[in-house]
Amino acid sequence: MKFIFPFFLILISYYLFSQNPGDDLPPWNPGMMDLHHIQTGRGDAAFYVFPDGTTMIVDAGDMSETHPRITSPRNTPPVPDASKTTGEWIVDYIRQFHPKGKDAVLDYAMITHFHDDHMGEIDHTSKKSKWGEYYITGITEVGEHIPIRKLIDRGYPDYDFPHDMKSQEYRSAMLARKDHYDSTTTFTLEQYWKFISSQAEKRGLVGEQFKAGSNTQIKLLYKEPDYPSFEIRNICGNGLAWTGWGEESIAMVPQDILAGTQVPGENSLSNAIKITYGNFNYFTGGDIAGNNGLGEGDWQSVESQVAPVIGPVDVATLNHHGNRDSQSPFYVRTLRPKVWIGQTWSSDHPGDDVMRRIASKELYPGDRYLFSTAMLEANHLVIGDRIDRIYESTHGHVVVRVLNGGEEYMVFVLDECSPERKIKKVIGPIKSR
Ligand SMILES: [Zn+2]
Repeated sequence: MKFIFPFFLILISYYLFSQNPGDDLPPWNPGMMDLHHIQTGRGDAAFYVFPDGTTMIVDAGDMSETHPRITSPRNTPPVPDASKTTGEWIVDYIRQFHPKGKDAVLDYAMITHFHDDHMGEIDHTSKKSKWGEYYITGITEVGEHIPIRKLIDRGYPDYDFPHDMKSQEYRSAMLARKDHYDSTTTFTLEQYWKFISSQAEKRGLVGEQFKAGSNTQIKLLYKEPDYPSFEIRNICGNGLAWTGWGEESIAMVPQDILAGTQVPGENSLSNAIKITYGNFNYFTGGDIAGNNGLGEGDWQSVESQVAPVIGPVDVATLNHHGNRDSQSPFYVRTLRPKVWIGQTWSSDHPGDDVMRRIASKELYPGDRYLFSTAMLEANHLVIGDRIDRIYESTHGHVVVRVLNGGEEYMVFVLDECSPERKIKKVIGPIKSR
């Protein structure tokens, strides 16, 4: 007892006095869960440290500087600066906050879907890997420097839904479209496949296809029995959704649609997960959308299909960066999170209507906290000072730190403009549901 008392005193004073703006984020300790939403200016990257120290990255986007649109005021600038590539900044970030520091290893990496702002894009400036004959960007650049144990995506190993992406016909069709987006996606995927085989051979990377409905594919690897309330449920991916029963899944797209010419787009095939730790729940869904376009069928609203099995959560990231087709009224009302986090890179993140829906007390009652990793001047010009009234923070890395076995959590905003990443703002503790 004599020994324990001062230890707790130190712990309490540490919490009371060391979490102010200008301070460093106090280090992760066993039992905590840290969910980092990293602002790079070039796409999504989230880094998680689970209660037993198991780690995971969800997406590592990097959009090419060679496109005028990316470098225009419509898009966010690269942060902290362009002295490193986006992949290198993500590596730098992970090494700062990973429990093992510069010896960091990623137990899991998950790519929600195959778009540049989630996996990277190869262009003529991309660096060459030292591990094999391929070029690196985004997730493969992270994997170049930090070993990835298990890589989960929606297509491994055949990549044949809804198209046979490895076939010559598909490749030729994509390149023939003369759309830079189609061709760079094709080149990027080819380099990504080379990355997987090379890393598997040289560093033991294991590739796996996302299993919709599973709650065992991603799990605690070090001290699982110590945290029985922890679970990661795969909600949907690659056209399949959890039914809510066991590990069963159901096809979201009707067979007759698949047999025709209309196939689901890449965004709607995003892998989505729900993380539960005690009373705390978190959902992140890549670029799934919820509002059907004119003439589109109900099957295109992935949000409507999955909201009932997700249920209410404490924290949710904005689907599709808060783009106009996402956060449908039904979805917002069903998940009703206390905290929304937008991962932003363009001036349509979030759409004006989306912002109104996530802030609406008609859709669900109660106070809530809105965070965005960035907000462009264009949004302020269009939407006005409502942004400042409803947002807690509109710039910086957003870190959710879950404490006391999931009983409560804090939200830290870290400075994205400097590599020190000092605390800019602290919210909480907020009690979990
Ligand atoms: Zn996206």
